[in-house]
Amino acid sequence: MIEFKHVFKEYDNKVIAANDFTITIKQGEFVYVVGPSGAGKSTFIKMMYREEIPTSGQIKINEFELEKIKNKEIPFLRRELGVVFQDFKLLPKLTVFENVAYALQVIEKSPEKVKERVERVLELVGLADKTDVFPNELSGGEQQRIAIARAIANKPRILIADEPTGNLDPGTANDIMEIIERINKKGTTVVMATHNSSIVNERKHRVIEIDDGRVIRDQKRGGYKDESNNL
Ligand code: ADP
Repeated sequence: MIEFKHVFKEYDNKVIAANDFTITIKQGEFVYVVGPSGAGKSTFIKMMYREEIPTSGQIKINEFELEKIKNKEIPFLRRELGVVFQDFKLLPKLTVFENVAYALQVIEKSPEKVKERVERVLELVGLADKTDVFPNELSGGEQQRIAIARAIANKPRILIADEPTGNLDPGTANDIMEIIERINKKGTTVVMATHNSSIVNERKHRVIEIDDGRVIRDQKRGGYKDESNNL
């Protein structure tokens, strides 16, 4: 469960990137966040995992009330959230196995458990045969699949993706969407910021549209553009 109540975010330069966001996303939903560059999509997403702190308002992520959260609790919050980025953010000097395992080792699982889980998530993204290669030996689509495997390694209840298909060709973007939708069907909430209109139009889910720091549309199974005015 993700709950924003009257959330405002004003950056130091006086830009208001979130102007009174009140939004509830239930466990298991799939939500696209759309809007032009600079609209506030990343700010919305970053506030969920406490990369940015709101100026005012309340955010609840599962049982965590972010306005009350202590620094030492932030790692526990982050375990509820898997995050995937446009530029993958894999560690170049680590192998595929190590990149995925890294997320698990920090929470003190046994080496056997780590191995089992890494193999399981790599299978899930269809790359079980790539454990020993380095990120630069992989295509963009493969790197993104590894990044997704890493994001879900801890079984987070929420998967956040900021333009996950932004650097990928349409065919590869579709493969990535298949994987993200499969993860969602297993009960994981997905929040995905995107500019990819064909994906939003073809794979219908809830659409939250942001423009100039305001939520201007929140539609069940919406399209990339609001078509309700063009009847
Ligand atoms: P989007 O993800 O939709 O492109 P962002 O959330 O990145 O939008 O940005 C929303 C607005 O906030 C933009 O005007 C952007 O320039 C501004 N902004 C984002 N991050 C910062 C920051 N760290 N400092 C100052 N302004 C920022």
